[in-house]
Amino acid sequence: MARIVMKFGGTSVADLDRIHNVARHVKREVDAGHEVAVVVSAMSGKTNELVAWVQGMPKVTGANSPFYDAREYDAIVASGELVTAGLLAIALQSMGIDARSWQGWQIPIKTDNAHGAARILDIEGSEMIRRMGEGQVAVVAGFQGLGPDNRVATLGRGGSDTSAVAIAAAVKADRCDIYTDVDGVYTTDPRIEPKARRLKKIAFEEMLEMASLGAKVLQVRSVELAMVHKVRTFVRSSFEDPDAPGMGDLLNPPGTLICDEEEIVEQEVVTGIAYAKDEAQISLRRVADRPGVSAAIFGPLAESHINVDMIVQNISEDGSKTDMTFTVPSGDMEKALRVLEGAKEQVGFDVIQHETGLVKVSVIGIGMRSHAGVAASAFRALADKGINIKAITTSEIKISILIDGAYAELAVRTLHSVYGLDKK
Ligand code: ADP
Ligand code: ASP
Ligand code: MG
Repeated sequence: MARIVMKFGGTSVADLDRIHNVARHVKREVDAGHEVAVVVSAMSGKTNELVAWVQGMPKVTGANSPFYDAREYDAIVASGELVTAGLLAIALQSMGIDARSWQGWQIPIKTDNAHGAARILDIEGSEMIRRMGEGQVAVVAGFQGLGPDNRVATLGRGGSDTSAVAIAAAVKADRCDIYTDVDGVYTTDPRIEPKARRLKKIAFEEMLEMASLGAKVLQVRSVELAMVHKVRTFVRSSFEDPDAPGMGDLLNPPGTLICDEEEIVEQEVVTGIAYAKDEAQISLRRVADRPGVSAAIFGPLAESHINVDMIVQNISEDGSKTDMTFTVPSGDMEKALRVLEGAKEQVGFDVIQHETGLVKVSVIGIGMRSHAGVAASAFRALADKGINIKAITTSEIKISILIDGAYAELAVRTLHSVYGLDKK
């Protein structure tokens, strides 16, 4: 007997038929004698619809967000998961399984106060564990918890993955299965590159980079939690026949295991390619080249919660003026421009230039630590396709390259093939 947390994403619960199919996956594990907790997302498209409704409301001045009260945003967007949790509990009951739905606050999953992007602080899992011990299946609404203000707080887009891993850690589950619309983690988004290969295993560090650099298959925070709490996490498909051979394999279920790098026998130099759309680049021209300038630029941006990414500073020609270029998510660009205009006097720049519609393509692999020349082959391959590079950043296990959005797919496919990742 094992304890298993099963998470089903939006496309897996998109309609009643799929919810019944999900129930069959759950039944398989229950029939095998395991203790099961399930985490569900909202039906696919539902959260987007709820977000759009909030954005369609009049802007509220004086609220704790520039456009609307973030606590009410959370009250609204958390509702999609409540529906699927209830529906799945009913579907399970109709199969003779003792199941009960749980909203985030009922457990409770306690979070911090950052409405819209809250972090889980603690999960009081004892009642859930007790009931699981009695054979009851807990169906938990993902994406949400209870803030210190006693109000619903959501965990950021894609947050149900994090709910699942956090619950798995809290109930000391033997395994956390993230069921989605692909049958594992691939060398790149299989929707962009059909030659992408499914990975049998991927190291936590690599998955962390893949997720933060745009591969939306897992929310970044869920990977961090899995790494810290050593949760055995698999990414697998909900679309396969729930009763196909091997689906109930306890130790080696089909899919991709996220694990310690020591567990990976054949380590390639490059493991995967990720991309993030909707990047914007901002350049401050002729900035005074003196101590304190970076702080004067990036301090106010940070205070406004704008996530600055790639930063490039030129050498100044005459030792007095330089150019500072950096990227922000496109959605934050207008706000960033306003903040920078407000700080113009302290920073002392001539003009601001900006460009949207850029894409960051990243090459990831822990094998890069011990291999030279990985970056050079990326630059050569992109040059051969006539793709201009606007900015580069590197770390021990990744290279990120900023390019024009029009070349995103070409760049992903080019890099995928250069590093020998294409399906044979
Ligand atoms: P869910 O609704 O189940 O949470 P998501 O849409 O959040 O599913 O994540 C699954 C999607 O992630 C896939 O449909 C796929 O297009 C995308 N994806 C991006 N990069 C990868 C990758 N490297 N491997 C697998 N899927 C990826
Ligand atoms: N429903 C939420 C979203 O679409 C959370 C999730 O699916 O993980 O972002
Ligand atoms: Mg997701």
